[in-house]
Amino acid sequence: MVDQALAVLTNGETYRRILYLLLAFPLGTAYFVLLVTGLSTGGGLAVIIVGIGILWLTMEGWLLLARFERQLAIQLLGANIPPISLPAPAGESWRQRIGRTLTDRVTWTSLGYLLVEFPFGIASFTLVLVLFTVSLAFVLTPVAYVLQVAFRPQVPIDVNFAPFISNNGPPYGAAFLVALLVGVVGVVMIPASAAALSGLGWLWARFAEATLGVSQSQVQLAAAQAEARTQQVRAERSEQSRRELIVNASHELRTPVASISAHVESLLKPGRPMDDEVRKYLTVVATETDRLGSLVDDVLALARADAGELHLDIRPVDVPAVVDHVCEALAPLARQERTLSLLHSAAPDLPRAMADPDRLTQVLTNLVRNALNHTPDGGIISVETTQADGRVVIKVSDTGIGIDPEDLHRVFDRFFRSDQSRSRDTGGSGLGLAIARDLLSAMGGSITAESTPGVGSVFLVSLRREAA
Ligand code: ADP
Repeated sequence: MVDQALAVLTNGETYRRILYLLLAFPLGTAYFVLLVTGLSTGGGLAVIIVGIGILWLTMEGWLLLARFERQLAIQLLGANIPPISLPAPAGESWRQRIGRTLTDRVTWTSLGYLLVEFPFGIASFTLVLVLFTVSLAFVLTPVAYVLQVAFRPQVPIDVNFAPFISNNGPPYGAAFLVALLVGVVGVVMIPASAAALSGLGWLWARFAEATLGVSQSQVQLAAAQAEARTQQVRAERSEQSRRELIVNASHELRTPVASISAHVESLLKPGRPMDDEVRKYLTVVATETDRLGSLVDDVLALARADAGELHLDIRPVDVPAVVDHVCEALAPLARQERTLSLLHSAAPDLPRAMADPDRLTQVLTNLVRNALNHTPDGGIISVETTQADGRVVIKVSDTGIGIDPEDLHRVFDRFFRSDQSRSRDTGGSGLGLAIARDLLSAMGGSITAESTPGVGSVFLVSLRREAA
């Protein structure tokens, strides 16, 4: 018991809490006056913009006071309070900020806190003063009594003790006992009051925790969002360095591949005396080097598309002229090497299409070459240019082996090659259609495929038409 009393009295926390309870009165009064003045002034003028401004300033003001109170509650009451607000999201406008503050729970609970502190401050201040004054008075009662007896023994004692005073008996005995009892009560009251006030401070600290900080779920949500943002930034950075690596590596590979190709070509020059077997091997090296070269070019094109670095020169293009050019270039492959018919036609009065002519040539060359590669001898490959729904449409169809329905949606995937293409080794890497799709979408166009196995395939390229 005595230990507990001493513990309460020797604990610094007790005095900090009591200090807070005393401070609560002037602070609470000041907040109340400030807020009521601000709110009534702002509220009165709220109909006009100035009023809204004052209201806003009042709100910012009370949040500032709430921040100060939060610090006070943490330092003096030992309260554990989360931040009053979470960091503002990046790029938040002032309107969004106002909206966020107005809808934030803490804005209103902190206002409640500041307003309640006014009556609480008066009550706690009074309580501290009353309890300590009374306790002190009780403690000093026996001392006062003894002093009175010592210095003025003849005078009847304080009226309060009158009933206990006997002129015959031993003087002042009963009154002294009472005075002593009062003193003991006073001694007990001091730690009891301190404990009660400390308890009150503890309760107020819990109130501050509930009203002056964001909720735990908000803190968790903000932490999760921050973590997600960090992960996103990390993922973007690694994606960026992956792209750069591919672009740089494929760029660097082009030079040695081109050099090997040129050297092999000069070794294979017609007329140069060479062992037949050596010539055969060198021809294989030349073919494979060409293949490696176009693979490097394809990878570089895709990496550039991913990085948004496709430098396209988009302008009005006469599509039938491009088709003519492509068919002419590939005609030897169709006619001389294979017995295939390569036809092309164009609807009359076609508008020009918006495209990069070189890239469009690359896309159409890939489509026609694919059609030639996948069509058995005697088949027909046709390229028709028409217009539909205000767009220029190029239809590349063949009477070839076709594409299995389950493969059709994958033909535009990177490195996709059907089992048939792999077994026939058409020389492709499975990147051509992926590049075609990226190039066309960068030009504002699109590509789709339809096919019936054993009957043939149709690739439809759609481009924006030149603005009239
Ligand atoms: P590559 O031709 O270099 O292999 P592409 O991306 O151009 O790569 O084509 C991917 C795959 O789509 C080809 O390997 C082939 O299996 C299929 N394909 C493309 N065009 C046709 C076509 N006209 N007929 C049948 N299959 C085709």
